[in-house]
Amino acid sequence: MAAANNILVVDDDGVVGSLVSSMARSIGFHCIVTKDAANCHRLVTADTAVIILDLIMPGMDGIEVLRLLGEQKCRARIVLMSGMDKRVIETAKKLARTLGLVVVGHLQKPFGVEELRIALGDIAPDESLLVAHERPKLDFPDAELARAFAQAEFVNYYQPQISLKTGMVTGVEVLSRWFNPRRGVILPEHFIARAESMGFIDALCWSTAEMALADVHQFRDKLGAQARISLNASVHTLRDLKFPDMFMALLDQHGFPADNLVIEITETGLIRELARTLDVLTRLRMKSIQLSIDDFGAGYAMMQQLQNVPATELKLDMSLVQNMHASHTDRIMVEKTIEMGHELGMEVMAEGVTTKEQVTLLQGMGCDGAQGFLFSPALPLAGLVKWLHGAGAARLI
Ligand code: C2E
Ligand code: CA
Ligand code: CA
Repeated sequence: MAAANNILVVDDDGVVGSLVSSMARSIGFHCIVTKDAANCHRLVTADTAVIILDLIMPGMDGIEVLRLLGEQKCRARIVLMSGMDKRVIETAKKLARTLGLVVVGHLQKPFGVEELRIALGDIAPDESLLVAHERPKLDFPDAELARAFAQAEFVNYYQPQISLKTGMVTGVEVLSRWFNPRRGVILPEHFIARAESMGFIDALCWSTAEMALADVHQFRDKLGAQARISLNASVHTLRDLKFPDMFMALLDQHGFPADNLVIEITETGLIRELARTLDVLTRLRMKSIQLSIDDFGAGYAMMQQLQNVPATELKLDMSLVQNMHASHTDRIMVEKTIEMGHELGMEVMAEGVTTKEQVTLLQGMGCDGAQGFLFSPALPLAGLVKWLHGAGAARLI
């Protein structure tokens, strides 16, 4: 039986309901929305993993709904949602617990997709929805993006990486988010290509690196001496011959060892620009910075050229990892990539790991590391520190 991963949203405001529903869908969750607080408990089924409940509604408010759910001995997890201050939410949380309900978090309105993802915690999304669902690109006027860069509206989120040998956290991947004052949290798929075409991508790379090197002091002790930071870099940035020296100066300034820094470049970007970036990549390696080929196996056969690239890691593309169980070809692809990576002296990291079965299969194939929603989504700094204190402090597999 598939795991319960449906969401029920109870909100009197239809706009909020449909907004939450489309955000939920975009990260792989089925969603039912109702304005009918008095009868919402009837919509709860065995497939309802989470109820997102507005606290303030006319007619029947969230507190009364909590009482009804308590009487029904509802097992779904509850996320409280409100525009009120945190104290109101805290009081409601306590009440819900006394009613025997499981409250897992709260969402302070307005919120974006990333906050929703965090509130949903470890509930696995339906990956088939993610593949089937075409996410529309948000469109921004140039001026809005230019202002965002000038006002430093970009922040770093961090996704933990786990060793498949020891089960411990070995590092974090840095993923950018745009905190847009009007639209909330915006994912990189909506701004990276624009930043490249508008010429802001180098500035984004530097600010991301600087923020990560400043933040790392807040969690480095939790990761051990070999803690790695992985940064995504665009091939545009890697065409600049001065990049390695400038990067070394930045690492020196922050006292961060070069061999604990990984620069990730996508396989597609690398194929397109191999001739123009090979010298920079070689220099980075000569300075001990690690190099990772991202989205490896996503459809571009780089196998032939791989031995000519001074990479230290291959990152298996999420689509291969997630199709391994359904597709024999994808499973062979994963197995061969791991073998080949190891033969060339590289480590192999699997992305988009969402199930224990994937972990077992990958371990059997000798894959070195993994990241994915099974362990944690990308988190803001405070969320990462909290996660490392809790779940991240133990063996994760
Ligand atoms: P990527 O480097 O391949 O990063 C992995 C993406 O998959 C991230 O999306 C991450 O949040 C998401 N992800 C992680 N685990 C799972 C999972 O289990 N299931 C699913 N469905 N997704 C998962 P995100 O953060 O939206 O980033 C998208 C892409 O944008 C990144 O892909 C990377 O290529 C690019 N990017 C992100 N930050 C930066 C940056 O600072 N600079 C540059 N140049 N590119 C960036
Ligand atoms: Ca990456
Ligand atoms: Ca990737």
